[in-house]
Amino acid sequence: MKKGDVTCSACGAGFRRLELASGPATHGEYRCPTCGEILEKFDGNAFVAYRLTIQPSIRGVRDD
Ligand SMILES: [Zn+2]
Repeated sequence: MKKGDVTCSACGAGFRRLELASGPATHGEYRCPTCGEILEKFDGNAFVAYRLTIQPSIRGVRDD
């Protein structure tokens, strides 16, 4: 399992990224839940999970 930290370059939100070679492969892309910036495009070779760890400092986050 690989672990890493990712920061959204658009809004500053921080994420913990986990990659598992044995899980169901992740396809498509992961977008920042607060601003919609694409953080990663998956190649389908691993299971990748993101978890928000640092709330962005900006205001005006959409409330859905
Ligand atoms: Zn963002």
